[in-house]
Amino acid sequence: MPKIVKKTKETEAQKKDSIPKSKILKDVSRALGTKDLLANDFENLETIKKDLSSFFKRYGFVQLETPVMEKAEMFKNNFRRDVGKELYEITSDKGEKLALRSELTQGIIRSFIDHNLNETMPLPVRLFSIGPVFRQEKLQSSRYRQFTQVNAEILGEAKPVAEAFLIYTMFSLCQDWGLDIEVQINSLGKNECQKEYRDKLISYYKGRGNRSKICNECKKNLNKDPMALLDCTEKECLSLAEGAPQIVDFLDEDSREYFSKLVEYLDELGVKYNFNSRLVRGLNYYNDTVFEFWPLSDNGQPQYKYALGGGGRYDNLVEKISGQEISGVGMALGLERMVYKLKDKNLILFPQPENLIFLAQLSEKAKLRSMQIFEELRKEGFNVRNSFVANSLKKQLEEAKQLQTRICLILGKKELTDDTILLRDMDSGVQEIIPQKKLIKELQKKLN
Ligand code: AMP
Repeated sequence: MPKIVKKTKETEAQKKDSIPKSKILKDVSRALGTKDLLANDFENLETIKKDLSSFFKRYGFVQLETPVMEKAEMFKNNFRRDVGKELYEITSDKGEKLALRSELTQGIIRSFIDHNLNETMPLPVRLFSIGPVFRQEKLQSSRYRQFTQVNAEILGEAKPVAEAFLIYTMFSLCQDWGLDIEVQINSLGKNECQKEYRDKLISYYKGRGNRSKICNECKKNLNKDPMALLDCTEKECLSLAEGAPQIVDFLDEDSREYFSKLVEYLDELGVKYNFNSRLVRGLNYYNDTVFEFWPLSDNGQPQYKYALGGGGRYDNLVEKISGQEISGVGMALGLERMVYKLKDKNLILFPQPENLIFLAQLSEKAKLRSMQIFEELRKEGFNVRNSFVANSLKKQLEEAKQLQTRICLILGKKELTDDTILLRDMDSGVQEIIPQKKLIKELQKKLN
Protein backbone atom coordinates (compact mmCIF):
# COMPACT_ATOMS: atom_id res chain seq x y z
CA MET A 1 0.00 0.00 0.00
CA PRO A 2 1.46 3.38 -0.87
CA LYS A 3 1.78 5.64 2.11
CA ILE A 4 -0.67 8.50 2.03
CA VAL A 5 0.95 11.79 2.85
CA LYS A 6 -1.40 14.40 4.22
CA LYS A 7 -0.79 17.87 2.90
CA THR A 8 0.30 19.82 5.93
CA LYS A 9 1.98 23.16 6.40
CA GLU A 10 5.24 23.64 4.46
CA THR A 11 8.22 22.19 6.27
CA GLU A 12 11.23 24.44 6.85
CA ALA A 13 13.14 22.61 4.07
CA GLN A 14 10.31 23.09 1.57
CA LYS A 15 10.14 26.75 2.45
CA LYS A 16 13.81 27.07 1.73
CA ASP A 17 13.50 25.43 -1.71
CA SER A 18 10.47 27.26 -3.02
CA ILE A 19 11.01 30.47 -4.97
CA PRO A 20 9.80 33.52 -3.04
CA LYS A 21 6.73 35.07 -4.71
CA SER A 22 8.53 38.39 -5.08
CA LYS A 23 11.15 36.67 -7.28
CA ILE A 24 8.66 35.22 -9.77
CA LEU A 25 8.51 37.25 -12.98
CA LYS A 26 5.25 39.15 -13.10
CA ASP A 27 5.50 40.08 -16.76
CA VAL A 28 6.36 37.26 -19.14
CA SER A 29 5.27 39.08 -22.29
CA ARG A 30 7.61 39.82 -25.19
CA ALA A 31 9.55 43.06 -25.50
CA LEU A 32 7.63 45.60 -27.58
CA GLY A 33 8.21 45.39 -31.30
CA THR A 34 9.56 41.82 -31.19
CA LYS A 35 7.95 38.61 -32.28
CA ASP A 36 8.08 34.88 -31.46
CA LEU A 37 8.15 32.66 -34.48
CA LEU A 38 6.16 29.52 -33.87
CA ALA A 39 5.59 26.47 -36.05
CA ASN A 40 4.45 27.62 -39.52
CA ASP A 41 5.64 31.20 -39.05
CA PHE A 42 9.08 29.86 -38.29
CA GLU A 43 8.97 27.47 -41.24
CA ASN A 44 7.83 30.25 -43.60
CA LEU A 45 10.73 32.46 -42.66
CA GLU A 46 13.19 29.57 -42.90
CA THR A 47 11.84 28.62 -46.34
CA ILE A 48 12.24 32.16 -47.59
CA LYS A 49 15.78 32.35 -46.19
CA LYS A 50 16.70 29.13 -47.99
CA ASP A 51 15.09 30.31 -51.23
CA LEU A 52 16.90 33.64 -51.06
CA SER A 53 20.16 32.02 -50.23
CA SER A 54 20.12 29.68 -53.24
CA PHE A 55 18.74 32.49 -55.42
CA PHE A 56 21.59 34.91 -54.67
CA LYS A 57 24.18 32.17 -55.01
CA ARG A 58 22.90 31.49 -58.52
CA TYR A 59 23.51 35.15 -59.30
CA GLY A 60 27.13 34.80 -58.19
CA PHE A 61 26.83 36.30 -54.70
CA VAL A 62 28.97 34.85 -51.91
CA GLN A 63 27.31 34.48 -48.50
CA LEU A 64 28.78 35.82 -45.30
CA GLU A 65 27.58 36.28 -41.75
CA THR A 66 28.74 39.12 -39.56
CA PRO A 67 28.16 39.64 -35.82
CA VAL A 68 24.94 41.25 -34.63
CA MET A 69 27.09 43.57 -32.50
CA GLU A 70 29.53 46.04 -34.01
CA LYS A 71 31.34 49.14 -32.76
CA ALA A 72 28.71 51.81 -32.24
CA GLU A 73 30.96 54.46 -33.79
CA MET A 74 30.65 52.88 -37.24
CA PHE A 75 26.88 53.29 -37.28
CA LYS A 76 27.10 56.77 -35.82
CA ASN A 77 29.51 58.02 -38.47
CA ASN A 78 27.62 56.66 -41.43
CA PHE A 79 24.17 57.00 -40.29
CA ARG A 80 20.63 56.31 -41.05
CA ARG A 81 18.42 59.26 -40.34
CA ASP A 82 17.53 59.38 -36.64
CA VAL A 83 20.38 57.05 -35.78
CA GLY A 84 20.66 58.52 -32.29
CA LYS A 85 17.22 57.29 -31.43
CA GLU A 86 17.31 54.17 -33.51
CA LEU A 87 20.45 52.45 -32.28
CA TYR A 88 20.43 49.99 -29.35
CA GLU A 89 23.71 50.74 -27.65
CA ILE A 90 25.60 48.55 -25.21
CA THR A 91 28.72 49.22 -23.18
CA SER A 92 30.94 46.17 -22.89
CA ASP A 93 32.76 45.16 -19.67
CA LYS A 94 35.87 46.78 -21.17
CA GLY A 95 34.02 50.04 -21.67
CA GLU A 96 33.76 49.55 -25.44
CA LYS A 97 30.75 51.28 -27.01
CA LEU A 98 28.91 48.65 -29.04
CA ALA A 99 25.60 48.62 -30.84
CA LEU A 100 23.16 46.02 -32.10
CA ARG A 101 23.36 46.42 -35.86
CA SER A 102 20.62 48.56 -37.34
CA GLU A 103 21.48 47.39 -40.86
CA LEU A 104 23.70 44.79 -42.51
CA THR A 105 25.57 46.92 -45.08
CA GLN A 106 28.14 48.43 -42.77
CA GLY A 107 29.06 45.15 -41.09
CA ILE A 108 29.50 43.58 -44.53
CA ILE A 109 31.83 46.40 -45.60
CA ARG A 110 33.77 46.20 -42.34
CA SER A 111 34.23 42.48 -42.87
CA PHE A 112 35.15 42.94 -46.56
CA ILE A 113 37.98 45.26 -45.48
CA ASP A 114 38.95 43.19 -42.41
CA HIS A 115 39.48 40.14 -44.62
CA ASN A 116 41.12 41.98 -47.53
CA LEU A 117 38.49 40.68 -49.90
CA ASN A 118 39.29 43.50 -52.30
CA GLU A 119 42.70 41.88 -52.81
CA THR A 120 41.80 38.21 -52.56
CA MET A 121 38.62 38.19 -54.65
CA PRO A 122 38.23 39.51 -58.19
CA LEU A 123 36.44 42.85 -58.27
CA PRO A 124 33.59 43.56 -58.31
CA VAL A 125 32.87 41.40 -55.28
CA ARG A 126 29.28 40.26 -54.82
CA LEU A 127 28.30 39.51 -51.24
CA PHE A 128 25.08 38.69 -49.48
CA SER A 129 24.05 38.16 -45.90
CA ILE A 130 20.86 37.25 -44.04
CA GLY A 131 20.09 37.99 -40.41
CA PRO A 132 18.32 40.01 -37.76
CA VAL A 133 18.63 43.78 -37.44
CA PHE A 134 17.51 45.95 -34.53
CA ARG A 135 16.01 49.42 -34.55
CA GLN A 136 14.24 51.41 -31.87
CA GLU A 137 11.35 52.15 -34.20
CA LYS A 138 8.18 54.03 -33.41
CA LEU A 139 5.73 51.20 -32.84
CA GLN A 140 3.35 50.76 -35.74
CA SER A 141 1.92 47.96 -37.84
CA SER A 142 4.42 46.05 -40.00
CA ARG A 143 7.33 47.74 -38.21
CA TYR A 144 9.26 45.66 -35.70
CA ARG A 145 12.20 46.48 -33.48
CA GLN A 146 13.85 43.21 -34.39
CA PHE A 147 13.31 42.00 -37.94
CA THR A 148 15.19 40.06 -40.61
CA GLN A 149 16.88 41.43 -43.68
CA VAL A 150 18.78 39.98 -46.58
CA ASN A 151 21.36 42.31 -48.06
CA ALA A 152 23.11 42.02 -51.39
CA GLU A 153 26.10 44.27 -52.01
CA ILE A 154 28.36 44.78 -55.04
CA LEU A 155 31.71 46.29 -54.15
CA GLY A 156 34.24 47.67 -56.60
CA GLU A 157 32.04 48.65 -59.53
CA ALA A 158 31.52 52.34 -60.26
CA LYS A 159 29.21 52.03 -63.27
CA PRO A 160 25.39 51.86 -63.30
CA VAL A 161 25.49 48.29 -64.57
CA ALA A 162 25.93 47.30 -60.89
CA GLU A 163 22.67 48.80 -59.68
CA ALA A 164 20.90 47.63 -62.84
CA PHE A 165 22.04 44.11 -61.97
CA LEU A 166 20.85 44.39 -58.35
CA ILE A 167 17.47 45.82 -59.29
CA TYR A 168 17.08 43.16 -61.95
CA THR A 169 17.81 40.31 -59.50
CA MET A 170 15.09 41.50 -57.10
CA PHE A 171 12.69 42.07 -59.98
CA SER A 172 13.34 38.53 -61.26
CA LEU A 173 12.95 37.08 -57.77
CA CYS A 174 9.52 38.67 -57.41
CA GLN A 175 8.57 37.44 -60.86
CA ASP A 176 9.65 33.90 -59.90
CA TRP A 177 7.46 34.16 -56.80
CA GLY A 178 4.52 35.65 -58.69
CA LEU A 179 4.66 38.93 -56.73
CA ASP A 180 3.77 42.11 -58.60
CA ILE A 181 6.06 45.00 -57.77
CA GLU A 182 6.96 48.39 -59.17
CA VAL A 183 10.53 49.59 -58.73
CA GLN A 184 10.80 53.22 -57.64
CA ILE A 185 13.99 54.89 -58.83
CA ASN A 186 15.56 58.28 -58.33
CA SER A 187 18.95 59.93 -58.50
CA LEU A 188 20.44 61.96 -55.67
CA GLY A 189 23.38 62.99 -57.84
CA LYS A 190 26.87 63.58 -56.53
CA ASN A 191 27.48 65.11 -53.12
CA GLU A 192 27.90 68.60 -54.61
CA CYS A 193 24.44 68.47 -56.24
CA GLN A 194 22.96 67.41 -52.89
CA LYS A 195 24.50 70.44 -51.12
CA GLU A 196 22.75 72.92 -53.39
CA TYR A 197 19.53 70.94 -53.22
CA ARG A 198 19.55 70.91 -49.42
CA ASP A 199 19.82 74.70 -49.30
CA LYS A 200 16.88 75.02 -51.67
CA LEU A 201 14.82 72.63 -49.55
CA ILE A 202 15.55 74.59 -46.37
CA SER A 203 14.39 77.83 -48.04
CA TYR A 204 11.27 76.08 -49.33
CA TYR A 205 10.26 74.73 -45.93
CA LYS A 206 11.04 78.00 -44.19
CA GLY A 207 9.18 80.09 -46.73
CA ARG A 208 5.50 80.90 -47.23
CA GLY A 209 4.44 79.81 -43.74
CA ASN A 210 5.39 76.20 -44.53
CA ARG A 211 7.43 75.83 -41.36
CA SER A 212 4.36 76.06 -39.15
CA LYS A 213 2.68 73.22 -41.07
CA ILE A 214 5.37 70.58 -40.70
CA CYS A 215 5.44 68.11 -37.77
CA ASN A 216 7.70 68.65 -34.77
CA GLU A 217 10.11 65.96 -35.89
CA CYS A 218 10.55 67.67 -39.27
CA LYS A 219 11.04 71.03 -37.56
CA LYS A 220 13.94 69.49 -35.66
CA ASN A 221 15.42 67.95 -38.83
CA LEU A 222 15.00 70.95 -41.10
CA ASN A 223 18.41 72.58 -40.75
CA LYS A 224 20.58 69.53 -40.22
CA ASP A 225 18.94 67.09 -42.66
CA PRO A 226 16.27 68.71 -44.86
CA MET A 227 16.06 65.69 -47.18
CA ALA A 228 14.64 63.67 -44.28
CA LEU A 229 11.49 65.79 -44.57
CA LEU A 230 10.70 64.18 -47.91
CA ASP A 231 10.59 60.81 -46.15
CA CYS A 232 8.08 61.89 -43.48
CA THR A 233 4.71 60.17 -43.67
CA GLU A 234 2.73 62.71 -41.58
CA LYS A 235 -0.23 63.98 -43.61
CA GLU A 236 0.74 67.68 -43.72
CA CYS A 237 4.38 66.88 -44.42
CA LEU A 238 3.39 64.54 -47.25
CA SER A 239 1.33 67.23 -48.93
CA LEU A 240 4.07 69.86 -48.50
CA ALA A 241 6.59 67.43 -50.00
CA GLU A 242 4.42 67.40 -53.14
CA GLY A 243 5.35 70.99 -53.92
CA ALA A 244 8.98 70.80 -52.75
CA PRO A 245 11.87 71.38 -55.18
CA GLN A 246 12.98 68.19 -56.91
CA ILE A 247 16.53 66.87 -56.84
CA VAL A 248 16.40 66.08 -60.55
CA ASP A 249 16.63 69.84 -61.26
CA PHE A 250 19.91 70.01 -59.38
CA LEU A 251 21.75 67.14 -61.02
CA ASP A 252 24.96 67.99 -62.87
CA GLU A 253 25.76 66.69 -66.33
CA ASP A 254 27.65 63.59 -65.09
CA SER A 255 24.88 62.57 -62.71
CA ARG A 256 22.26 62.97 -65.42
CA GLU A 257 24.23 60.87 -67.83
CA TYR A 258 24.79 58.23 -65.16
CA PHE A 259 21.09 58.04 -64.40
CA SER A 260 20.04 57.83 -68.07
CA LYS A 261 22.42 54.92 -68.53
CA LEU A 262 20.73 53.10 -65.65
CA VAL A 263 17.30 53.78 -67.13
CA GLU A 264 18.52 52.39 -70.47
CA TYR A 265 19.59 49.16 -68.76
CA LEU A 266 16.27 48.81 -66.96
CA ASP A 267 14.34 49.38 -70.19
CA GLU A 268 16.38 46.75 -71.97
CA LEU A 269 15.91 44.28 -69.13
CA GLY A 270 12.14 44.81 -69.06
CA VAL A 271 12.03 45.99 -65.43
CA LYS A 272 8.79 47.75 -64.44
CA TYR A 273 9.93 51.02 -62.82
CA ASN A 274 8.64 54.44 -61.92
CA PHE A 275 10.74 57.57 -61.75
CA ASN A 276 9.98 58.90 -58.26
CA SER A 277 11.55 62.30 -57.71
CA ARG A 278 10.71 62.28 -54.00
CA LEU A 279 12.47 59.06 -53.17
CA VAL A 280 15.49 59.93 -51.02
CA ARG A 281 15.73 56.92 -48.63
CA GLY A 282 16.56 57.28 -44.97
CA LEU A 283 20.35 57.14 -45.20
CA ASN A 284 22.97 59.84 -45.38
CA TYR A 285 25.52 57.90 -47.40
CA TYR A 286 23.87 57.47 -50.79
CA ASN A 287 24.89 59.19 -54.00
CA ASP A 288 23.39 58.88 -57.48
CA THR A 289 20.96 55.96 -57.62
CA VAL A 290 18.39 55.16 -54.95
CA PHE A 291 15.60 52.64 -55.42
CA GLU A 292 12.80 50.84 -53.58
CA PHE A 293 10.59 47.86 -54.35
CA TRP A 294 6.91 48.57 -53.78
CA PRO A 295 4.39 45.75 -53.98
CA LEU A 296 1.24 46.38 -56.02
CA SER A 297 -2.22 46.07 -54.47
CA ASP A 298 -4.89 43.94 -56.13
CA ASN A 299 -5.98 46.93 -58.17
CA GLY A 300 -2.41 47.63 -59.28
CA GLN A 301 -1.64 50.51 -56.89
CA PRO A 302 1.94 50.70 -55.55
CA GLN A 303 1.95 50.36 -51.75
CA TYR A 304 4.75 52.60 -50.46
CA LYS A 305 4.01 51.77 -46.83
CA TYR A 306 4.84 48.12 -47.41
CA ALA A 307 8.09 48.50 -49.35
CA LEU A 308 9.73 45.07 -49.61
CA GLY A 309 13.19 46.57 -49.77
CA GLY A 310 15.38 49.24 -51.14
CA GLY A 311 18.93 50.33 -51.73
CA GLY A 312 21.27 52.61 -53.55
CA ARG A 313 24.80 53.56 -54.49
CA TYR A 314 27.24 54.47 -51.73
CA ASP A 315 30.52 55.42 -53.36
CA ASN A 316 31.92 57.13 -50.26
CA LEU A 317 30.87 54.66 -47.59
CA VAL A 318 33.80 52.24 -47.91
CA GLU A 319 36.20 55.16 -47.76
CA LYS A 320 34.48 56.55 -44.67
CA ILE A 321 34.77 53.19 -42.92
CA SER A 322 38.23 52.14 -44.08
CA GLY A 323 39.95 54.96 -45.92
CA GLN A 324 39.99 52.88 -49.11
CA GLU A 325 38.37 54.24 -52.24
CA ILE A 326 36.04 51.47 -53.32
CA SER A 327 32.66 52.22 -54.81
CA GLY A 328 29.66 50.17 -53.88
CA VAL A 329 25.99 49.59 -54.33
CA GLY A 330 23.62 47.49 -52.24
CA MET A 331 20.09 46.64 -51.28
CA ALA A 332 18.27 45.43 -48.19
CA LEU A 333 15.09 43.38 -48.33
CA GLY A 334 12.71 42.89 -45.40
CA LEU A 335 11.89 39.23 -44.94
CA GLU A 336 8.88 39.63 -42.62
CA ARG A 337 7.26 41.90 -45.22
CA MET A 338 7.95 39.36 -47.94
CA VAL A 339 6.45 36.51 -45.93
CA TYR A 340 3.40 38.65 -45.22
CA LYS A 341 2.95 39.54 -48.89
CA LEU A 342 3.44 35.97 -50.09
CA LYS A 343 0.97 34.66 -47.51
CA ASP A 344 -1.52 37.37 -48.41
CA LYS A 345 -1.36 36.33 -52.05
CA ASN A 346 -1.45 32.61 -51.24
CA LEU A 347 1.86 32.17 -53.00
CA ILE A 348 4.63 29.64 -52.27
CA LEU A 349 6.09 29.38 -48.77
CA PHE A 350 6.61 26.52 -46.43
CA PRO A 351 5.51 23.36 -48.23
CA GLN A 352 3.59 21.02 -45.91
CA PRO A 353 5.44 17.70 -45.73
CA GLU A 354 3.89 15.28 -48.15
CA ASN A 355 2.79 11.69 -47.50
CA LEU A 356 2.82 12.06 -43.75
CA ILE A 357 2.16 8.88 -41.72
CA PHE A 358 0.79 9.02 -38.17
CA LEU A 359 1.52 6.21 -35.76
CA ALA A 360 -1.09 5.81 -33.01
CA GLN A 361 -0.82 3.38 -30.07
CA LEU A 362 -3.37 2.17 -27.57
CA SER A 363 -1.59 0.69 -24.58
CA GLU A 364 1.54 0.83 -22.49
CA LYS A 365 3.02 -2.19 -24.32
CA ALA A 366 2.00 -0.80 -27.71
CA LYS A 367 3.86 2.41 -26.89
CA LEU A 368 7.16 0.56 -26.80
CA ARG A 369 6.52 -1.43 -29.98
CA SER A 370 5.25 1.70 -31.77
CA MET A 371 8.52 3.46 -30.97
CA GLN A 372 10.40 0.59 -32.63
CA ILE A 373 8.12 0.73 -35.67
CA PHE A 374 8.58 4.51 -35.78
CA GLU A 375 12.33 4.01 -35.99
CA GLU A 376 12.05 1.31 -38.69
CA LEU A 377 9.87 3.58 -40.83
CA ARG A 378 12.04 6.66 -40.30
CA LYS A 379 15.11 4.70 -41.37
CA GLU A 380 13.30 3.65 -44.55
CA GLY A 381 12.81 7.36 -45.31
CA PHE A 382 9.11 7.69 -44.41
CA ASN A 383 7.83 10.92 -42.94
CA VAL A 384 6.34 9.71 -39.63
CA ARG A 385 4.75 11.51 -36.69
CA ASN A 386 3.47 10.05 -33.45
CA SER A 387 2.20 11.03 -30.08
CA PHE A 388 4.21 8.95 -27.70
CA VAL A 389 2.29 10.02 -24.61
CA ALA A 390 -1.40 10.12 -25.56
CA ASN A 391 -3.54 7.02 -24.89
CA SER A 392 -6.85 8.15 -26.32
CA LEU A 393 -7.36 7.08 -29.93
CA LYS A 394 -9.72 10.00 -30.48
CA LYS A 395 -7.05 12.51 -29.50
CA GLN A 396 -4.42 10.83 -31.65
CA LEU A 397 -6.71 10.75 -34.68
CA GLU A 398 -7.47 14.44 -34.17
CA GLU A 399 -3.76 15.20 -34.18
CA ALA A 400 -3.28 13.06 -37.30
CA LYS A 401 -6.04 15.03 -39.03
CA GLN A 402 -4.55 18.35 -37.98
CA LEU A 403 -1.22 17.34 -39.46
CA GLN A 404 -3.02 16.39 -42.69
CA THR A 405 -1.53 12.91 -42.65
CA ARG A 406 -2.21 10.53 -45.52
CA ILE A 407 -2.13 7.35 -43.47
CA CYS A 408 -2.71 6.56 -39.83
CA LEU A 409 -1.27 3.33 -38.38
CA ILE A 410 -2.95 2.05 -35.22
CA LEU A 411 -1.36 -0.39 -32.84
CA GLY A 412 -3.71 -1.84 -30.17
CA LYS A 413 -3.57 -4.86 -27.85
CA LYS A 414 -4.96 -7.23 -30.47
CA GLU A 415 -2.52 -6.10 -33.16
CA LEU A 416 0.36 -6.45 -30.70
CA THR A 417 -0.57 -10.07 -30.03
CA ASP A 418 -1.09 -10.86 -33.74
CA ASP A 419 1.99 -8.94 -34.98
CA THR A 420 -0.30 -6.92 -37.22
CA ILE A 421 -1.16 -3.24 -37.52
CA LEU A 422 -4.27 -1.37 -38.58
CA LEU A 423 -3.74 0.87 -41.58
CA ARG A 424 -6.26 3.67 -42.10
CA ASP A 425 -6.38 5.76 -45.26
CA MET A 426 -7.19 9.23 -43.90
CA ASP A 427 -8.84 10.47 -47.13
CA SER A 428 -11.18 7.57 -47.76
CA GLY A 429 -11.49 6.32 -44.17
CA VAL A 430 -10.88 2.73 -45.42
CA GLN A 431 -9.10 0.53 -42.85
CA GLU A 432 -7.29 -2.77 -43.29
CA ILE A 433 -5.24 -5.02 -41.04
CA ILE A 434 -1.83 -5.97 -42.34
CA PRO A 435 1.05 -8.04 -40.92
CA GLN A 436 3.76 -5.83 -39.41
CA LYS A 437 6.44 -7.50 -41.51
CA LYS A 438 4.67 -6.39 -44.69
CA LEU A 439 4.17 -2.85 -43.47
CA ILE A 440 7.04 -1.17 -45.32
CA LYS A 441 6.13 -2.76 -48.67
CA GLU A 442 2.47 -1.86 -48.18
CA LEU A 443 3.28 1.78 -47.36
CA GLN A 444 5.60 2.05 -50.36
CA LYS A 445 2.83 0.75 -52.58
CA LYS A 446 0.23 3.13 -51.15
CA LEU A 447 2.34 6.28 -51.06
CA ASN A 448 3.85 5.94 -54.50
P1 AMP B 1 15.74 49.90 -44.90
O1 AMP B 1 16.93 49.19 -44.35
O2 AMP B 1 15.12 50.85 -43.93
O3 AMP B 1 15.98 50.46 -46.24
O4 AMP B 1 14.63 48.77 -45.10
C1 AMP B 1 14.69 47.79 -46.07
C2 AMP B 1 13.48 46.90 -45.92
O5 AMP B 1 13.49 46.28 -44.63
C3 AMP B 1 12.16 47.66 -45.95
O6 AMP B 1 11.72 47.87 -47.25
C4 AMP B 1 11.26 46.71 -45.18
O7 AMP B 1 10.83 45.66 -46.01
C5 AMP B 1 12.18 46.16 -44.13
N1 AMP B 1 12.04 46.93 -42.87
C6 AMP B 1 12.62 48.11 -42.56
N2 AMP B 1 12.30 48.48 -41.32
C7 AMP B 1 11.50 47.52 -40.81
C8 AMP B 1 10.84 47.31 -39.56
N3 AMP B 1 10.97 48.17 -38.56
N4 AMP B 1 10.10 46.19 -39.41
C9 AMP B 1 9.97 45.27 -40.41
N5 AMP B 1 10.58 45.41 -41.60
C10 AMP B 1 11.33 46.52 -41.81
